[in-house]
Amino acid sequence: MTTHPLFDIAGRTALVTGSSRGIGHAFARGLVEAGCTVVLNGRDPQALEKAAAELGGVGPGAASGAGAAEVHTAAFDVTDGPAVAAGIADVEERVGPLDILVNNAGMQNRAPLLEFTDDAWRQILDTNLTSAFLVGREAARRMTARGHGKIVNICSLQSEVVRPGIAPYAATKGALKMLTKGMCADWGRYGIQVNGLGPGYIETELTRPLVEDEEFSAWVRGRTPAGRWGRTEDLIGALLYLASPAADFVSGQVLYVDGGMTSVL
Ligand code: NDP
Repeated sequence: MTTHPLFDIAGRTALVTGSSRGIGHAFARGLVEAGCTVVLNGRDPQALEKAAAELGGVGPGAASGAGAAEVHTAAFDVTDGPAVAAGIADVEERVGPLDILVNNAGMQNRAPLLEFTDDAWRQILDTNLTSAFLVGREAARRMTARGHGKIVNICSLQSEVVRPGIAPYAATKGALKMLTKGMCADWGRYGIQVNGLGPGYIETELTRPLVEDEEFSAWVRGRTPAGRWGRTEDLIGALLYLASPAADFVSGQVLYVDGGMTSVL
């Protein structure tokens, strides 16, 4: 099997934040399968070791015995500025220069806006938005000096639309879309492309309560032109495209992977 050169990212080094489980872990798997060296991130070192072990033996060389792609871990909290600075410096020293950054770490907190506390507001803003600024800035300081890099910010269909009870989450993801465009504007001249990937409703730990709520789950299926919930694997192709030379003239965009949901009323 041959890979078109435009889609060949073998040998690149990628950091995926929030990749101990869920969507981030699926992205890491896709990148490893494409031949990248991948650094997994999250706050729990044990969960990261387990996640890395699950990716052992994955990768283009694994079957032939040529050696699987490398998987590393870097435990740090993406909301903590000094920890992010130290974490990125450590990754580049231990693993090598980062070619690809996926800002994926995120959280959800479903509560009516009138009941949302100050602390809860700051926590979701820090986790979903400030994190992308902190990690993005730290990575881009190095990428701009080298003259190339790909950054993919994981947005959401709620960067575009919102339902009752999820306003703070949608506010963070809407702002992340604009941060993506701003990063594109600032760093494009240094050879860095910054794009967003906006998943629709995807079955993960984060959405488990919604999946288990039969009424809500049926609403998702009915409201999605594809007629089903998304799976983490549904997102991998879009990520690999945005990380590849095929997207070298694509920047500041959000690619929605949502079974069509954001397009219909
Ligand atoms: P999960 O809750 O399954 O995974 C979240 C990941 O982020 C975990 O690895 C978690 O690890 C990590 N994380 C959370 N907070 C921090 C932090 N402060 N520092 C470092 N790592 C952190 O979520 P999903 O996989 O479902 O979601 C991933 C991304 O996709 C999020 O940005 C989410 O908003 C977005 N998304 C998800 C959708 C869905 O339907 N699932 C839809 C649209 C967007 P740990 O807790 O160990 O630190």
